[in-house]
Amino acid sequence: MIPTGRFAPSPTGPLHAGSLVAALASWLDVRARGPQARWLVRIEDADTERCLPGMGETILRQLTACGLVPDAPPAWQTRRVARYQQALERLQADGLAYPCGCSRKDIDEALARRGMPHQRHGERIYPGTCREGLHGKAARAWRFATEKSEAGAVHWLDRRLGAQRQDVRAEVGDFVLKRADGPWAYQLAVVVDDADQGITDVVRGEDLADNTARQILLQRALGLPTPGYLHTPLVLAADGQKLSKQNGAEALDTRTPQAALKALQAAAQALGLSTGSATAIADALADWVPAWRDLYNPRP
Ligand code: GLU
Repeated sequence: MIPTGRFAPSPTGPLHAGSLVAALASWLDVRARGPQARWLVRIEDADTERCLPGMGETILRQLTACGLVPDAPPAWQTRRVARYQQALERLQADGLAYPCGCSRKDIDEALARRGMPHQRHGERIYPGTCREGLHGKAARAWRFATEKSEAGAVHWLDRRLGAQRQDVRAEVGDFVLKRADGPWAYQLAVVVDDADQGITDVVRGEDLADNTARQILLQRALGLPTPGYLHTPLVLAADGQKLSKQNGAEALDTRTPQAALKALQAAAQALGLSTGSATAIADALADWVPAWRDLYNPRP
């Protein structure tokens, strides 16, 4: 298997200090595995409602300015919906996907009736109301039937965070695969894409770590391999909050090589690498490769 990594930004805004950390980390992890390893970019525009026109191209230009150039033309999720449909049909045929007609209010009421906690990390836990049928309601979404595919918790190993576990059924519930007449859910698209692109190692921001167990369940249900995982430290804004458009997330300036180098140095620092003394982007990137190898020990 050719070691293959990827950077998978959502084009909801330009590259910012936080997303550059994930881009640089995934690039370094690939380069540290030797010359045959491949770094791919995928523009995650499946959730078309949140994406801004032209932003995918902007991100690709910013990456190029930072010397981070993919080894194959970038993939775009909006061109891959037929693959997501095939995966959903397979889950449907296996009895692992069911239609759900619940509104948010329906879900809250069902959770209250069952005395279940309402939310986890700001997301509603789905109590499984429509598992046994729609009871005359119109379908709003397709959900993954967690209980049928896997009992108990999912265990996985993160190369930075260590051993992880999540009981998806209890902590998340039957999660959405596709909203009816709406966009494909991130969970399904990312699993199908990672498999189709031959991704062996996922390196991404720590804010996404919580999705991993769901993605592993889908990989198993679809007969797809599970890649290795490494979640990178989050970059916090000056106010200690997660970076957002309101507190400086769009401040990344890649208009000159000097500005791009400065942005890369900040990203390297967030990853525990020293900024180094290189004055050219290519030299700085080359210096960080062996340092990354020492820190995170990627397999060749
Ligand atoms: N598109 C996701 C994001 O930008 C990242 C997906 C992933 O790396 O799995 O938050």
